[in-house]
Amino acid sequence: MRAGALLCLCLAEESLEADRRLIDEYRSVIDIVELWVDSLSASEATAAVSFPRAAGIPVILTVRRASDGGRFAGSETDRVALLARLAVGGFAFVDLEEDLEAPGLEAGIRAAGSRIIRSFHDFSGVPSDLAARVRRLARNARELPKAAVMVRGTADLARLLGACDELAGTEKVVLGMGEHGFPSRVLAGKIGSRICFASAPGAHAAPGQTDPLTLERLFRFHSVGPATAVYGVIGNPVAHSLSPLVHNTGFAALGMDGVYLPFPVDDLAAFRRVADLLDIRGLSVTVPLKQAVIPLLSRRDALVEAAGACNTITAEPAGAGGAGGGRTWAGTNTDVEGFLAPLRDAFGGTIPRGIRATVVGAGGASRAVVHALVGSGAEVLVLNRTGERAQELARLFSVKAAALDGHAAVLAGGYPDLIVQTTSAGMAPAAGIDPFPSYRFTGREVVYELVYSPPMTPFLLRARDAGCRLVQGSRMFLAQAREQFRLFTGAALPVEAEEIV
Ligand code: NAP
Repeated sequence: MRAGALLCLCLAEESLEADRRLIDEYRSVIDIVELWVDSLSASEATAAVSFPRAAGIPVILTVRRASDGGRFAGSETDRVALLARLAVGGFAFVDLEEDLEAPGLEAGIRAAGSRIIRSFHDFSGVPSDLAARVRRLARNARELPKAAVMVRGTADLARLLGACDELAGTEKVVLGMGEHGFPSRVLAGKIGSRICFASAPGAHAAPGQTDPLTLERLFRFHSVGPATAVYGVIGNPVAHSLSPLVHNTGFAALGMDGVYLPFPVDDLAAFRRVADLLDIRGLSVTVPLKQAVIPLLSRRDALVEAAGACNTITAEPAGAGGAGGGRTWAGTNTDVEGFLAPLRDAFGGTIPRGIRATVVGAGGASRAVVHALVGSGAEVLVLNRTGERAQELARLFSVKAAALDGHAAVLAGGYPDLIVQTTSAGMAPAAGIDPFPSYRFTGREVVYELVYSPPMTPFLLRARDAGCRLVQGSRMFLAQAREQFRLFTGAALPVEAEEIV
């Protein structure tokens, strides 16, 4: 078996034939499979003894109880008896739970030349003594300890990574379930977790499991190792973000030992610990953190100062004085140039001075947009659902502002050359929402939508139907990602990555 982290496909179909088909589908990217015998019918479960011989790949045997997320309905005596009957079949590993006492079964497993994975599951969170508990799991040097724990948020992820750090050099499997635990799966090779469990799309799977093709093709699972440089996007939500695809494609094209992944963040202070533990080198910052990250920056450039928002962090070695030898964060804002580049194109190369522009929204992205427009000599009106936020922005940039209420469409009629939609309405979970339905497009406006996923929002569809010139969010996304990639790597974004957007 290969030395680094193993990519394991969980097999939870109702028949062994269906399980075999899945192996064939994923054989090119997986190293090992885990047979969930509790998903099989009773007759198929007995036949599973011959599965390892036919599989052509190492197999982990698991008969999981309901309390550990499995489906085995019989008694504990029945379960141990089934495990003992199957264990002679030549499995690479047999998974036994931390609390199981079955010396006869264990002797049978050893006699068959298989290794025991000694596991526990915690669906309630990450235990505070995770490292100590993992250390206590293995009953002898041949056993592989495994902890599968629910990562409920960023603080839990920090705790899990801290435990892996403490356990450096110990052979183990530590995996974080749930969306917040996803980094522990992609980064198994970096954090020293021996096996990453994945499942086919739509399969009965543990929470947060991803399919093996995504892990290998998008995140280059097998090339992630202890020295791999980690980058990512922080925000909430981040699952929709195109940034992992763009940056990972770029890293792969350059042959760079780096990986970029989504980090949903609900606690920035805890994320700072995550960043130190993973030695994160660079971050994209998205909704709703662009302003919240500013106090964590050791350096910020004039764009962050002026826009009051930061969308890009590069992490620099802290030097001798740095706390814990970690990195300090320098912030910039690539949204400003990312916004302007497609706008110049829309106006044929130069943005005419004195255009009258309506900006819908007053969040982090809006600040970059208003800053860019004011700097280009535009007259700006900011409209926002929360009126005070619009006023605050207006004071900052000396522009006009109003609440997005019944009168807003009339006001926008006075700023009609360019309408910029900067709210998160139109994007999941508000995908069907048009934030400014009272505005009637005349067809003479340039309409710029910042949401890029989905590519067409209700707002943009109305503008298109009215005959307006459109600038889609993907144009700005690509322009700002180009700049981020250059800051992260010192290299231009390779053409393979450009073509994705
Ligand atoms: P943010 O700081 O959280 O601000 C969100 C803004 O959206 C606020 O003005 C908020 O109004 C408004 N809003 C949210 N839901 C709304 C609704 N249902 N109706 C009306 N207004 C609503 O977020 P952000 O960082 O500015 O990002 C905003 C959007 O821009 C996101 O979709 C993001 O993906 C996109 N973006 C795209 C690019 C790109 O490259 N294409 C770059 C940056 C941002 P309140 O103040 O009333 O809450």
